[in-house]
Amino acid sequence: MERRNFLLSAAAGGFASSPQAITVRGPLAASALGLTLAHEHLFSNFGEPPEEPGKYDEAALLAAVVPYAKSIRSLGCATIVDGTAAWFGRQPRLLRRISELTGLNILSNTGYYGAAKDQYIPPQAQQESAQQIAARWLDEFRNGIGGTGIRPGFLKLGVDPGPLSPIDRKLITAAAITHRQSGLAIAVHTGESGESAREQLAVLQSEGVSAKAWIWIHANKVTDLAALKAAAEAGAWISLDGLDNETIPRHLELAQQLKAWGRLRQVLLSHDGNSFRAGGKRPMRPYSALFTHFLPMLQNAGFAQEEIRWLTVDNPSTAYSLGNAAIR
Ligand SMILES: [Zn+2]
Repeated sequence: MERRNFLLSAAAGGFASSPQAITVRGPLAASALGLTLAHEHLFSNFGEPPEEPGKYDEAALLAAVVPYAKSIRSLGCATIVDGTAAWFGRQPRLLRRISELTGLNILSNTGYYGAAKDQYIPPQAQQESAQQIAARWLDEFRNGIGGTGIRPGFLKLGVDPGPLSPIDRKLITAAAITHRQSGLAIAVHTGESGESAREQLAVLQSEGVSAKAWIWIHANKVTDLAALKAAAEAGAWISLDGLDNETIPRHLELAQQLKAWGRLRQVLLSHDGNSFRAGGKRPMRPYSALFTHFLPMLQNAGFAQEEIRWLTVDNPSTAYSLGNAAIR
């Protein structure tokens, strides 16, 4: 199904009038996502050898993650977008269990993580074409991940810094093909690399995919402000997702800069936190600073309630809607 057909079926399915997000417990009206952390990890095995699906001491994981996730829920969080990708710990069945136990909406993902020097890209992806890779991701979108019936809510990719390597370029092309047929948002670990951001947007454009479907993950690390401005002007989502007590001043500066450019409607906020790192072997990275420190700081800096609502509710709801590029 190509883009035109997707749009027709999206309209028939009601996405055009009532955009949907796909959570680990099933589709939900995107407008019901509420206050959303746009990039966290409930758990991961990042740093460990690649494995899919992720294997964990499940009792230890639930004992660590569930009380913490409940505490985040009680701070006002309604939805968490989980960025743990295939081969470094994705485990949708556990995400669904955590969602049931905490009441949080959780989005999982499909895609391959090509950052960290390609160690989490499955070997067959080196040989396969972009179309073959996209077919695997579309199968997860349509039929669920690994026999669980749980469908991904977005595409999560990663690329190494600098110019796109051939494999990273192929992954972005595969993401464009997948997006055209599914409407899944394309969230890419891009970090500081303005050069990579420019190249990715060029690939998407050549594939007929709008920059509005693309999310610049870890854009808070950027040093090339011209690249950030260009991506924002093209319509991309800018994910300032490294909030912690030390990085808060930089996040505020960037939010103010994006506001000055008139691009606040494209900004997402999060911590890149992790409540069970490396299978519990490393200390957790909290994801509470938004609530305890950053939102009060935004208010003190003169951000209006409406603007704070964009950043925490309306923007993530649109960014992670199916077919977000078609509805904006
Ligand atoms: Zn992350």
